[in-house]
Amino acid sequence: MTLNKSKTINLMDLSIEETGELVAGLGEPRFRAAQIYKWVHQKGVSRFDEMTDLSLKLRERLQALTTPGSLEILTRQKSKDGTVKFLFGLADRETVESVFLPHDYGNSVCVSTQVGCRMGCGFCASTMGGLVRNLTPGEIYAQVTGIQNDTGKRVSSIVIMGSGEPMDNLDHVLKFITMITAASGLQIGARHITLSTCGVVPGIMKLAAFDLQITLSVSLHAPNDLLRDTMMPVNRKYPVRQLMEACREYISVTNRRVTFEYALIKGVNDSAGQAEELVRLLRGMLCHVNLIPLNRVDEREYRQSDRERVQNFREVLEGAGIPVTVRREKGADIDAACGQLRRRAVKEWRWPDGLL
Ligand code: SAH
Repeated sequence: MTLNKSKTINLMDLSIEETGELVAGLGEPRFRAAQIYKWVHQKGVSRFDEMTDLSLKLRERLQALTTPGSLEILTRQKSKDGTVKFLFGLADRETVESVFLPHDYGNSVCVSTQVGCRMGCGFCASTMGGLVRNLTPGEIYAQVTGIQNDTGKRVSSIVIMGSGEPMDNLDHVLKFITMITAASGLQIGARHITLSTCGVVPGIMKLAAFDLQITLSVSLHAPNDLLRDTMMPVNRKYPVRQLMEACREYISVTNRRVTFEYALIKGVNDSAGQAEELVRLLRGMLCHVNLIPLNRVDEREYRQSDRERVQNFREVLEGAGIPVTVRREKGADIDAACGQLRRRAVKEWRWPDGLL
């Protein structure tokens, strides 16, 4: 069982089986576990007195020993396009960001998996202060229930693409996926979950071995080692050829199409020659390329490619028969790039006293 700093059991961290053990330990009948689990993992309640089908005595015992694990919403930023960015407060006063993205086909939530990140990508805001700590499975889960409750809208897909590197916290991420796809959870289909990695090869291999039906998304951003080394330190450990081998393995085990994310950066990775190099790298693979307009991060030098360059790059890939989409820039009027809201909060704003 995962304990938080105050040594209280976070109910959101527990699987249905672990909740059963907890309930048995309290001398309560087993069916109580399903009731408690529903309040926590389906309804995301924040207080024990909302658990109306439990006796007052049991609620008091739970209160003494556990917390329901819902997160405090510290700020919301709403974009004109309907995207809402949330800053959540954790029990130890750390903060994490999550994003609500409404689509025609349903609503998705982008969750964070770590406070900060240690991967050091040169264009990313999340990694600037390094890694603070991993999130627990429940802290990842509570971002989804928190957003569902706040917006009043059902969430039908999840992108594990917020701050942090999921492969650096894979056990917690896998438990989160198991819980949220389960009948006792939010029943989000594995095919509606995308996990994005900067290219941690052993993590990709481990995930392949689980043969889940989730979509693997790889943040590639460069077609060769020379360039990728300068942008993403992870590449020095797991160079492009190894990364591609791991992706091929993932595809052959799961039969799932892999997505490659490629953020176009002005004068860095957006030439026609680089597009052709990318074609050579990906030809024949069951894959899809997602071209992303770079989100400007104030502290970084990198700038967004011009529209024309994006169009050219796209045409080279399409001409070679590689499926490609250009991601619409969601929430461009808010701090949409990973980590920007938290960074601002850390710089300008402190937890109000007495909130916890
Ligand atoms: N660590 C994981 C998931 C979090 S980052 C990963 O690297 O995939 C989520 C995505 O946002 C990645 O594709 C990342 O490369 C991209 N990203 C980070 N900073 C960005 C920026 N300033 N503009 C556009 N995309 C960015």
